[in-house]
Amino acid sequence: MKKLKEIHVPYNTGWAGELKERQVIRIIATTTVDFVAFKRQNLKERFDQARTKVYNMKIFVTAGDKLMGRANQHMMTITENTNREGTHDLQKGMCSGYRFQLAKKEGKLKDYYHRDFKDEEVPDHGCWENLSRALQPYGIAPEDIPNPFNLNQHMKIDGTTGRMDHTTIRPKPGSYVDLRAEMDLLVALSACPDLPVRGKPVDITIYEP
Ligand SMILES: [Zn+2]
Repeated sequence: MKKLKEIHVPYNTGWAGELKERQVIRIIATTTVDFVAFKRQNLKERFDQARTKVYNMKIFVTAGDKLMGRANQHMMTITENTNREGTHDLQKGMCSGYRFQLAKKEGKLKDYYHRDFKDEEVPDHGCWENLSRALQPYGIAPEDIPNPFNLNQHMKIDGTTGRMDHTTIRPKPGSYVDLRAEMDLLVALSACPDLPVRGKPVDITIYEP
């Protein structure tokens, strides 16, 4: 693969960019990354968590699996996944400033994240705001951003009760996921504040075949 571009995404910020069909985006991160994709020629056609789960018939996707669009098209293929420590999430939406404040007000931060927080540790914004800002130049309204593919967000899910719990299991440094575009795309991601572990910056490399 030929390297086209390298991008550094600082902690709790977002990035958006275009991918041509067959190009590969490598997402190098040790904490959660909220990732979304839109068909470039029709931005209303976008990534869909439920379609992705049902197409692959599982809730944890990995190398060889496909990310599906709302109309059941193949948007991307996961071509490599070096996260050996845990799984990626397809249940959760985006974290947000409002969501953190609500959990704080309701006294539920510890229920959600299994530890205590100092006031200054609770971020004033999250992936919702980061993706909204990154996608605004493309004319995408915040409410039109789909629920994301949450890389490196290892959730503990009880198969009988359906109970979900956050964990602090995250990949080792240098870990990455490669996603190949199966159509021309607009993609965006957020370097999540990832409360249980505190998020880190994300590095992106774009390759062409
Ligand atoms: Zn987040």
